[in-house]
Amino acid sequence: MQIKVASRLSLLPPYLFAELDRLKREVAQTGVDVISLGIGDPDLPTPQHIVDALKRTADLPANHRYPDYQGLDRFREAATGWYKRRFNVTLDANREACALIGSKEGIANFPVAVVDPGDVVLIPSPGYPVYYSGCVFNGGEPYYMPLRRENAFLPDLGAIPAEIARRAKVMWLNYPNNPTAATAEPAFLKLAVDYCLKNNIILAHDFAYSEIAFDGYRAPSVLEIDGARECAIEFHSLSKTYSMTGWRVGFVVGNATLVGALGTVKTNVDSGVFQAVQEAAIAGLTGGEETLHKYCAIYKERRDLMVAGLRALGLACDVPRATFYLWAQVPPGYTSASFTERVLKETGVVITPGSGFGKGGEGYVRFSLTVPSERLREAVERIKALRL
Ligand SMILES: *Cc1c(COP(=O)(O)O)cnc(C)c1O
Repeated sequence: MQIKVASRLSLLPPYLFAELDRLKREVAQTGVDVISLGIGDPDLPTPQHIVDALKRTADLPANHRYPDYQGLDRFREAATGWYKRRFNVTLDANREACALIGSKEGIANFPVAVVDPGDVVLIPSPGYPVYYSGCVFNGGEPYYMPLRRENAFLPDLGAIPAEIARRAKVMWLNYPNNPTAATAEPAFLKLAVDYCLKNNIILAHDFAYSEIAFDGYRAPSVLEIDGARECAIEFHSLSKTYSMTGWRVGFVVGNATLVGALGTVKTNVDSGVFQAVQEAAIAGLTGGEETLHKYCAIYKERRDLMVAGLRALGLACDVPRATFYLWAQVPPGYTSASFTERVLKETGVVITPGSGFGKGGEGYVRFSLTVPSERLREAVERIKALRL
């Protein structure tokens, strides 16, 4: 028999990282000590009080049954309580919050709930690839909003053609941003909310890096903005905040109709988050702030060391106030891919080509600050030897 997979799979862009993965294996096989600054996965462990909460609750038979897809009442209350303390935003835990099996799950399933074939989805470029796949898997038509340095890596909403705005159903935003590490002020979020209300567009904000911030910076929630409750939904992850990428837990909050629609999809495709993992997440959301401050201080130290190192090598990059990424311009004469390849082949340092996040990322590379400082210093020393 001949198997023919669904044609929607052919809508995915060629996997830009495939060649890089092959090269990485090749380099590692030659015995080179590879330094991976490629993926956004924290090296710092999940805080102990969170792990302990899992241990305490994993034994209970009540937790071994199917969880409710929308999450335990106490989990949703912990999430909305955290929103109240952190942003002074009051949410109804029953109607305006839902647990997610990691925010990626919610980001991928949200278009199932709101995008009809032919609807335009406004997607930042560069951006997290799931905005695109969720769009095209559901028959949506992506429209890219370029994030340019001269505009502080914010989309220029005025540049979106009127015809596109008229057909647009959803706008994705993500601040603090992956991959550019840019942040957005409340004034920009207000512009975005007003734009979406005026054009009847759903504003979907990916807030995965809300707590990874330095120098006193506190990222604003889109739900703090007047009018946001009418049009916006915010995806929150515990992965980066609490170093819990492997645990698969997040939540979504915002407009009750939107949260409810996503919930309807979820009842049909998943069966919720293991309750002991929800208990662990509750422990994270309700205590142990010191560990977070400690972790942010570690990322900040790495950031300072790496920005100084890259600048000394002649690689231009801004000093980010949030996320654990650096977004650096490639030297003249290189593309994102050719620079990444040369660095990997000749130094064993893995970085991510900006073009892997969409056309708007061309000319940049992303460094993840998810290895100890000594390794970052070693990476800078090795790249120095390239005499760029
Ligand atoms: C890491 C990440 C996510 C997904 O996180 P989960 O582990 O699925 O909660 C979503 N958006 C961005 C921009 C990310 O970097």
